[in-house]
Amino acid sequence: TVIPVSLGARSYDVIVENGLLARAGDHLAPLSRGRTMVIVTDENVRPHLATLQASLAAAVVQSEAIVLPPGESSKSWAMLETLTDRLLDLGVERGDHVVALGGGVIGDLVGFACAILKRGCGFVQVPTTLLAQVDSSVGGKTAINSKAGKNLVGAFHQPALVLVDPTTLDTLPARQVRAGYAEVVKYGLIDDPAFFAWCESNAAALIAGDADARSCAISHSIAAKARIVGEDEFETKGRRALLNLGHTFGHALEAEAGFSDTLLHGEGVAAGMALAYGFSAAQGIAPPADAERVRTHLAAIGLPNGLAAVRSTQSGHELVAHMMHDKKMNAGTLPFLLARGIGETYVDKTVDLAKVTAFLDAQPR
Ligand code: NAD
Ligand code: ZN
Repeated sequence: TVIPVSLGARSYDVIVENGLLARAGDHLAPLSRGRTMVIVTDENVRPHLATLQASLAAAVVQSEAIVLPPGESSKSWAMLETLTDRLLDLGVERGDHVVALGGGVIGDLVGFACAILKRGCGFVQVPTTLLAQVDSSVGGKTAINSKAGKNLVGAFHQPALVLVDPTTLDTLPARQVRAGYAEVVKYGLIDDPAFFAWCESNAAALIAGDADARSCAISHSIAAKARIVGEDEFETKGRRALLNLGHTFGHALEAEAGFSDTLLHGEGVAAGMALAYGFSAAQGIAPPADAERVRTHLAAIGLPNGLAAVRSTQSGHELVAHMMHDKKMNAGTLPFLLARGIGETYVDKTVDLAKVTAFLDAQPR
């Protein structure tokens, strides 16, 4: 499947195909201009690096690999400096395309490095986690973390091409697959009730490794993201903000866990989506049965579906204080993504924080 991302001069294709990594060289050769291609990856992705390098060699493209330590801590100023120095040592030019092979950490770090290297060089995303395949590799948001918080230093920099091989997920730990799935079901909850229903029937197969369920969910999710990003590339019109469903609550929970492996991003988002639906129901905006359907589905696939599931010990007041710290805070208002029902979400900038606090305090722990 080829999914076009239409952004004027910055348009590109996302190709989704089982086994694509072994044929990646054919797609990358035209971007190499006969020069050595630099691949950046992390240590856990080494088996896939070998496949990619072999496919480049078969397409008569020389390659050089930079292998970084895995983990969120690599999205740092220090690693950005290390990486840009290496890329400059290797002689990367503006017209070159650096390949980011890995999860969202590699994609965000390499994308940002390429945004600033020689004032912007090309790059290609080859995402190898479910989260990166359905979310972070498409849309051009790149960032590192700073002392003040996550993703606060970054740039919009679109890739020239995204190559998605769902079979790379065969080596991904099950917990990471589940966490990435939170971002899949998110697209159903945002504006696609039929896709949510599809998820209810097919999530178990997807988690278990069914190749068809995986490629179907991945293609559908990328098409949804491409459409929303195409409507609002720089998140100025409110449309792209819908992609943050569950993220305001989720970030507060991730912050409590210190943005560590205790609570993966997707796990925080899952709990956050359940809370967004729960709050909407508590305010009489969404039918309680819809909020219950979300909670039941998340629980069925082993994702957290509320404060008890993530063992949060923060009071409503503390959680709201974390949310105020969130980067989405704008001119003193905290926009919330609320729901009128499954697949019907909207941005509300007038939510009374006292009501959010009371709702959170009333949650079972
Ligand atoms: P990650 O990149 O840390 O990958 C998770 C783990 O899986 C890591 O240990 C990694 O080494 C390993 N891994 C990757 N591919 C593998 C494979 N095929 N087999 C075995 N192990 C593999 O985390 P992630 O969940 O992919 O991404 C999270 C990051 O993405 C966060 O930093 C988040 O801020 C960012 N993000 C960015 C956007 C965006 O739009 N740019 C959107 C969502 C999330
Ligand atoms: Zn997310």
